Amino acid sequence: MKGIVFVMSGPSGAGKTSILREVLRSNNNLDFSVSYATRERRPEEVQGKDYFFVTPEEFKRLQKEDEFLEWAKVHGNYYGTSRHQVSKSVDLGRDILLDVDIQGAMSLMSKLRDAVYIFVAPPSYEELISRLQSRGTEDTQSLRTRLEDAKWELEQVKNFQYLVINDNLKHSVSQFEAIITAERLRVDRMVREKGERFLFEEKTYDN
Ligand code: 5GP
Repeated sequence: MKGIVFVMSGPSGAGKTSILREVLRSNNNLDFSVSYATRERRPEEVQGKDYFFVTPEEFKRLQKEDEFLEWAKVHGNYYGTSRHQVSKSVDLGRDILLDVDIQGAMSLMSKLRDAVYIFVAPPSYEELISRLQSRGTEDTQSLRTRLEDAKWELEQVKNFQYLVINDNLKHSVSQFEAIITAERLRVDRMVREKGERFLFEEKTYDN
């Protein structure tokens, strides 16, 4: 079976990173797609684990080499998904989780029709403001841009298949894991991959 692509998206400050860290910790067959980014590395971030931090020139070169499955300018910086990483996981039968902004998710929707699109939202706009402020990772300008962008981003929820409202991390993680489990159990996906008679060919039915 080919791996499943899970695309997680939502406004900055909704808590995507916290959810994905937990989900990745407990899910064996799930890779994380490490994106390329031109923004400054935050002190706690690790090169090659959180992002591949590159210069704008390197980013342009990768763009020319068609390395990006999708890319977008997000809050003033460039971010891109590695085509190679995604296809490698999928071909090895490993599922892969992408954390991309809304523009990125919407551009993937037309390219990866089989992927699963999950929107992570804050419980309210006020809560988003307070989370971004207390996170303390953004300067005033970046904070303003992120909050301004969030208005349009929140409206795009209608284009997604699943919604996780992140009011409680533990609860959101278990909802996210439920989505992964449900998608892995989908018969239409199995039939598409293995053909209609796959159940009768499985060893389970031998005795
Ligand atoms: P941050 O700078 O807070 O890590 O991320 C800012 C935004 O960029 C987040 O919404 C995150 O989902 C998005 N992002 C991260 N990697 C990618 C990517 O490869 N492509 C796109 N389109 N967005 C990304």
